[in-house]
Amino acid sequence: MSRGNVLVVGGGIGGLSTAIALRNADYEVTILELRPDMDSSIFGVGIIQPTNALRALDAIGCLEPCLEIGYEAKQWARKLDVDGNLMHDIPGARIEGYAPLNGVTRPALHTILTNKALEVGAVLRYGATFTDIVDNGENVTVTLNDDTTETYDFVVGADGVRSKVRTYVLAEELRPQYIGQSAFRMNLPRLPEIDCIVLQEGTKGMAGYVPIGPDLAYVFYNAAWPDRNIRPTPEELPQVFREHLAEFGGLTARIRDEYIKDDSEIVLRPEESLISPAPWHKGRIVLIGDAVHSVTPHLGQGAAQAIEDGVVLAEAVTKYRDLDEAFAHYTERRYERCKMIVDVSRRIGEWELDQSIEFDHSAETQRVIESMVAPI
Ligand SMILES: Cc1cc2nc3c(=O)[nH]c(=O)nc-3n(C[C@H](O)[C@H](O)[C@H](O)COP(=O)(O)OP(=O)(O)OC[C@H]3O[C@@H](n4cnc5c(N)ncnc54)[C@H](O)[C@@H]3O)c2cc1C
Repeated sequence: MSRGNVLVVGGGIGGLSTAIALRNADYEVTILELRPDMDSSIFGVGIIQPTNALRALDAIGCLEPCLEIGYEAKQWARKLDVDGNLMHDIPGARIEGYAPLNGVTRPALHTILTNKALEVGAVLRYGATFTDIVDNGENVTVTLNDDTTETYDFVVGADGVRSKVRTYVLAEELRPQYIGQSAFRMNLPRLPEIDCIVLQEGTKGMAGYVPIGPDLAYVFYNAAWPDRNIRPTPEELPQVFREHLAEFGGLTARIRDEYIKDDSEIVLRPEESLISPAPWHKGRIVLIGDAVHSVTPHLGQGAAQAIEDGVVLAEAVTKYRDLDEAFAHYTERRYERCKMIVDVSRRIGEWELDQSIEFDHSAETQRVIESMVAPI
């Protein structure tokens, strides 16, 4: 028997995961995704899946396909200096039964989550959004972009960092803060030495390599980028990327000189940070994922946290019939964990921009990854 019907606004990593978890808890679930199809809702290159992401994916039945298609690493990271010499390892942590790290492409992850959401019976509507949400106390009336109205027991805002659902929950308007860094990303063949995350520490930013399949990896560079509005054209990006990597020797010099070609497809994304104050709900509307905690990519935890949100939210509404109690319980279990990821990711970014700041990047990374082993 159905426990109720739920609208999830946003069919990204968090929305799809939440939909699967709620369907598995016997809710009827409809997902509204603004973009016209699955492919156009995917941006970026690859996704780092730390050990806690693997546990959360397992909880929604999506672990095996991620492992099949991805690259499982035996440790978190290896760190090199600007010339390419080995500094030390960052071992990371493993939850019993899960690897310390798996890497996948974003398209693969979206396909896995989308297929699972459909398989368990969620309704996924592309090119769909809402124009208004009215919480009537007993239920929620949602006006859709085709002017029809539908009624749900509750609404989940999983509509990302610029969430519109958020305006129905929080008293104040919340905007993500640009941290002065933008990330270059590009796929490349997985060289044998990219068998875990390989970080190469520059004087103005961090270069890194992430395995995302047996033969595939991506390079990233967190660049100092004071004005986010300055955007090179796609044709200019390879040259700008190479210039940013000019100081590096070793692995990064090789990638810069041999792999970043004038016609390479490069993604440049501004890095933004946001943590919403608690509570993350109002009445029958609740927020998850980047809508309440958007993290910069320094710890590879953004997607992991969004998936965990979905798992915990489904557990909370199953445990407490009273939605207010359920949502308060959900926020309580999530807030400190997500805030730590947002704060430490941001501090890593600040230190990458100014390495005179007293901060032990490797120790802090290791500390946070170890703390993610704790049950959610
Ligand atoms: C450069 C970069 C690299 C990253 N690398 C990693 C990584 O390696 N590992 C990791 O774990 N995380 C990473 N992240 C973070 C990760 O991508 C996000 O934390 C994660 O995607 C959040 O999922 P979400 O579902 O909350 O939001 P999103 O993925 O943003 O999904 C929101 C969805 O809602 C839809 N939507 C928006 N508005 C509406 C609306 N009004 N109506 C209907 N639909 C709407 C959007 O089209 C989108 O599909 C990275 C982020 C950045 C910027």
